[in-house]
Amino acid sequence: MGQNDFSMTIDGRAVHAGERLDVINPATEDVIARVPDCSREQFDEAVAAARTAFPGWRDKSYAERQASLGSIAATLMEHADELKVLLTAEQGKPLADALFEVQAAAWWIGEVAKNELPVTVTDAMPGQRSTTRHLPLGVVGAIVPWNFPLLLAIWKIGPALLAGNTLVLKPSPNTPLTTLRLAELLRPVLPAGVLNVVTGGDRLGPWMTAHPGIDKISFTGSTATGRRVMESAAANLKRLTLELGGNDAAIVLDDIDVDAMAEPLFWAAFKNSGQVCVAAKRIYVDDKVYEPLAAALQQVAKRVVMGNGADDGVALGPVQNRAQYERVRSLLADSRAAGHRFLTGGQDADGAGFFVPATIVDNPPEESRVVQEEAFGPIVPLLRFTDLDDAIARANASEFGLAGSVWSSNPDRAAAVAARMETGTVWINSAQNLTPYAAFAGQKQSGVGVEGGLDGLLEFTTPQTIHTARPE
Ligand code: NAD
Repeated sequence: MGQNDFSMTIDGRAVHAGERLDVINPATEDVIARVPDCSREQFDEAVAAARTAFPGWRDKSYAERQASLGSIAATLMEHADELKVLLTAEQGKPLADALFEVQAAAWWIGEVAKNELPVTVTDAMPGQRSTTRHLPLGVVGAIVPWNFPLLLAIWKIGPALLAGNTLVLKPSPNTPLTTLRLAELLRPVLPAGVLNVVTGGDRLGPWMTAHPGIDKISFTGSTATGRRVMESAAANLKRLTLELGGNDAAIVLDDIDVDAMAEPLFWAAFKNSGQVCVAAKRIYVDDKVYEPLAAALQQVAKRVVMGNGADDGVALGPVQNRAQYERVRSLLADSRAAGHRFLTGGQDADGAGFFVPATIVDNPPEESRVVQEEAFGPIVPLLRFTDLDDAIARANASEFGLAGSVWSSNPDRAAAVAARMETGTVWINSAQNLTPYAAFAGQKQSGVGVEGGLDGLLEFTTPQTIHTARPE
């Protein structure tokens, strides 16, 4: 595929733009493609196409829309090899992880399609029968970040389309390629205007959140941007789902099986080079197991190869973009300047690409930046505790409340700690395993609303109750 072959999909057609944006491979810093920078007129066309397509899509049978989701899954699987290469080139993740993302996206949308929308009937009110159904909202504007571009797009495409909405979707300008390609592959699969994909720079997101022709915004990204989205969406009271940032705590109890759990704990923090909303970003460890766990984590880190995700054997790719790379490096520099010790990493990498070695900071003070801020990169603090209540209090002392994890050989103890965590999701002896069958929601400033499960599907609907008079 040539550098300029990527086009937007608007009303089922390929649309190019006068202006184009560079897309960079984060492992090499080479420009690998130039994608359209959507104009205002083109964006208005995309919204108009979605509006025009809405009644026809809404009025299709539910079974037909379920079948369309199945066709999207099949398209992903059919083109998995092509999409994984593109995903590694634009995002940086190792090829095996890119393939996993494509396959997970296909599986996820297939499972979403199995949901039924509930119809509730009640005769409790004398003289009338009340029937509540869940109707689509209209046109959904979907905004996706750069860490899991394909999977997070599918989280929105699946339930939005199943419920009967049409979509205008905007990938991150850092990782637009797999999404543009998927939309191109779906042109013969979906009716024109049902799924529109537009790419652009900083002006495009605000156009979307302010547009009067859009009924709902489904946004995944940072908390700072989420606040702006909420403000802008107020103009026509758009419905909102916001999946935002987190500073997830892992709490490791004194009865943990260190040998068995060191590897999963390492990947809880470093999968996708730490660029996961639900990565373990602060690891609180009971003093009794701190030293053996620190040593075991060092051993895991030694075995892990960092490099270009396209190369064999690489498990840790680069940070995805320069701005994020600079942010992670500033946290590293801050830790170095404060005299923190490092169990692994701690130094900058040489050469091209946005590489940061997996870094574990050895028990830095609770108030340090590396503890208090969401790094969203391969740097994590290991923090010692002697009092479990204090550890839980420290874990909860955050404006975020996305997820967390508890690590223990005793399920009852672990469950008791999990129940005290102020987060929407808690894992016990694992992390990051999200499922299409359960609600995923951020507490506090980690989000508004839900993705996943039936609750996530219902967010793309509005209830309608019909009361029918009936004789007593
Ligand atoms: P970001 O907020 O910078 O960007 C996310 C998306 O919003 C991009 O498509 C971007 O172009 C767009 N955008 C930027 N400014 C906008 C505006 N004013 N109006 C509308 N759209 C705008 O986030 P990012 O750097 O791409 O992603 C990293 C963040 O996302 C982290 O904080 C991470 O925790 C969070 N995240 C959350 C989840 C979750 O499900 N909770 C999942 C993945 C990532």
